[in-house]
Amino acid sequence: MALHLAVSACRRRSRQLNAQAPREVGTVIVGGGQAALATGFYLRRAGLTPGQDFVILDASDRPGGAWAKMWPTLRTFSPTQHSSLPGWMMPPWTADDGYPLAAHVVDYLTQYENRYELAVRRPVRVTSVRYGDRGRLAVSTDHGDWLADNVISATGTWSRPFIPKYPGHFAGRQLHTAQYRRASDFAGQRVMIVGGGNSAAQILAEVSEVAETTWVTPRPPRFLPDEVDGRALFEIATARRRARDAGQTDTGGVGGLGDIVMVDTVRKARDRNVLHSRGPLHQLTKHGARLYDGSQVDLDTIIWCTGFRPALQHLAPLDLRGPHGLIPTEGTQARKEPRLHLIGYGDWTGPASATLIGIGQTLRTLPTTIK
Ligand code: FAD
Repeated sequence: MALHLAVSACRRRSRQLNAQAPREVGTVIVGGGQAALATGFYLRRAGLTPGQDFVILDASDRPGGAWAKMWPTLRTFSPTQHSSLPGWMMPPWTADDGYPLAAHVVDYLTQYENRYELAVRRPVRVTSVRYGDRGRLAVSTDHGDWLADNVISATGTWSRPFIPKYPGHFAGRQLHTAQYRRASDFAGQRVMIVGGGNSAAQILAEVSEVAETTWVTPRPPRFLPDEVDGRALFEIATARRRARDAGQTDTGGVGGLGDIVMVDTVRKARDRNVLHSRGPLHQLTKHGARLYDGSQVDLDTIIWCTGFRPALQHLAPLDLRGPHGLIPTEGTQARKEPRLHLIGYGDWTGPASATLIGIGQTLRTLPTTIK
């Protein structure tokens, strides 16, 4: 009897150990937004089997990446034919004659991952990537661990909203673009919108219909001509980056990716005469803010449309960060750790690589060692 119990305990213990043993795989892709899906597309095209040769682990409980979390009235700044991932065009937007809403991008990304049977596992949050045994990278998650030959990090920026520090303290409500849902939440209020990019302009356009708005921008906002859309911005960004890489002078151009695209709501706001920046913010006060021109504004709410930072916390144990908290890369490959790639995030991982149309171009340089 004692022997039988001992053997059972031993078997149980061995089963537990096996259950806890990390699963082995060629490549772990961290994230499940457009950057991860486009990467999956290229790996699959190179002959790798999703779920077997590589796994995609996404912390979100539904497809779409950041697009599923953006406010529902957000419009893309590029038409559908210039917002596509590799392999399959985004279906046309037919609901109105404007640019697609965020939900259209979510539908597209959902269909994309089904179409290519990318077998995204969600919700699975990667908590850390470390140096593992036998020359592999150890990936810990809230649903078990993995040992991988390569890790491709594609975690985006949405989970790390950035709010710059200003002197003073404001006692009213403050929120970031990431928390903004709808203009009606601010009806009848005095609202300051901080930031000079597309998010700020689109939020200002709709909030100004129901609230008294003040727009502050660190530098004068740059509006693109009405006929220039995100496609042109992407082409300009790529040309500038190529010129810089070739050691040529940056020729500038009509705009950069931060310049404001005149989508329908923004054009209408211009026609209502609300698209006027009051210049930079100087400091916060208990009841509002003081601007650089010395004027004081009383406020109920501040909406910070001040951008995001790359979500790289899971990579901290690798200790690869360089200046400005970014991981230096050669193309998409981390300079000090060739088994790690960073996809999406921003220009430092490829020209316009944080955009729908730009990510495919970046991934063409994904080294064959991954495949
Ligand atoms: P995300 O879409 O953020 O996806 C990252 C995924 O990784 C998420 O699903 C997240 O849950 C997951 N994740 C994060 N951390 C972990 C972890 N530790 N473990 C596992 N999973 C994790 N681009 C355009 O081309 N056109 C536009 O019009 C446009 N408009 C934009 C408007 C706004 C307001 C913003 C913020 C961006 C816009 N962009 C636009 C830029 C870009 O297309 C999006 O930011 C896009 O979401 C970036 O895709 P991604 O896959 O890199 O990151």
